[in-house]
Amino acid sequence: MARIVAAPEALTYFEARSRVLDAAHAGPEELVPLEQARGRAARRPLVAALALPPFRNSSMDGAAVRAADLALADRRAAELPVAAVIAAGASPSPLAAGSCAWIMTGAPVPDGADAVVPIEELEAIDDADPTRAGGKVRFTAPTRLQANIREAGADVRAGERFWEAGRELSAHDLGLLGGLGQREVLVGRRPRVAVISTGDELLALGEPMRPGAIYDSNRPMLGALLQECGAELISSEHAGDDPTRVGEAIVRALASADVTITIGGVSAGAFDPVKLGLGGVEGISLWRVAMKPGRPQAFGAPSGRLFFGLPGNPASVACVFEALVRPALRKWQGFSQLERPRVDARATHDMESRAGRTDFVRVTLAHRDGAWWASEAGAQISGHVAPQARAHGLLIVSEETPRLTAGQTAPVWVLRWPENE
Ligand code: AMP
Ligand code: MG
Repeated sequence: MARIVAAPEALTYFEARSRVLDAAHAGPEELVPLEQARGRAARRPLVAALALPPFRNSSMDGAAVRAADLALADRRAAELPVAAVIAAGASPSPLAAGSCAWIMTGAPVPDGADAVVPIEELEAIDDADPTRAGGKVRFTAPTRLQANIREAGADVRAGERFWEAGRELSAHDLGLLGGLGQREVLVGRRPRVAVISTGDELLALGEPMRPGAIYDSNRPMLGALLQECGAELISSEHAGDDPTRVGEAIVRALASADVTITIGGVSAGAFDPVKLGLGGVEGISLWRVAMKPGRPQAFGAPSGRLFFGLPGNPASVACVFEALVRPALRKWQGFSQLERPRVDARATHDMESRAGRTDFVRVTLAHRDGAWWASEAGAQISGHVAPQARAHGLLIVSEETPRLTAGQTAPVWVLRWPENE
């Protein structure tokens, strides 16, 4: 592998993206209990091993009957002796013609019974009591066959296929897995990520402000973005601007983390410490990617680990994360969908771009007249932190489009949905 070179390589966003995704192989799998599986990437399709419900059962508290015994109930109330009480979890004997049985929601419907009449629609007579057999029940109307009966397999057929590998498991998916009795599920392991920020001008949060300094706003944002896409943050440190110290921090991180991410220090500045500090690390290249924001970057896959050298400006960190880091981390975990959910939106005003460059515009979204409309969430200046806090998404102006004019449609990766009106 080539050593880092002084002259960065010029790439389009799509070239950069395919290099990153080619290097991001699926990581290891692990079995996790359902309580830890929400948001993880299922690594196997789900094929139901059972039918659900597993047996024919009642959806109401009431009386199990043979519908034919109530056929005359519209002219003259039918009265049936109560032969049994069937609680949830019971194994009832068959229901004899001319009798009924108290039955609870979720309890097995006895053979012979073909309907359940809800308790609200019947009258207990002759000392009948729903906790025991005996007495009689009066029915004032006929019932239809199958009324209030859930057939075995009506919900899930045994062998039914629900999803393919790559599914992002939701809370509701865990309900289905739980219904099938599955205690654990095979998912992609969380990538262990180390973050290193550079810059002698950076203050730790809570430190008093001093002239020439700014707070390290990227680390809390990046840490949260990483967690949100499934990563485990194993370390997050500020290494300053000394290239030796930064280089050592990178080497240490690469030895223990699946993914190492640096912030800042990769551009054309004479003192850029990531650029200088990477001198001894093989397999990492400096890039100039035709995207805005986020042009200067470093990337590599030394010994199968991933390394991202992000630019320092907050908007660049936010955009390169969505455009390159998130897809790679999601692929590593085995997700089939690599990006944020996407909508097509129409621009409310002209948006600057340039042919040959992919622009990521921080936008707010509004739904009007059956369409999504996107407006810039503030000045598109890479050093600003407010526009991405305001934004609902990143609008993508592709490299073929020299500028987006008002009314034109472009895809938007949704970072968060606007609140309901
Ligand atoms: P650099 O690429 O190191 O020249 O950084 C570009 C710009 O981003 C500079 O204005 C830095 O002060 C700023 N910057 C770098 N790292 C951070 C950080 N962690 N948080 C906020 N701003 C940063
Ligand atoms: Mg710097």
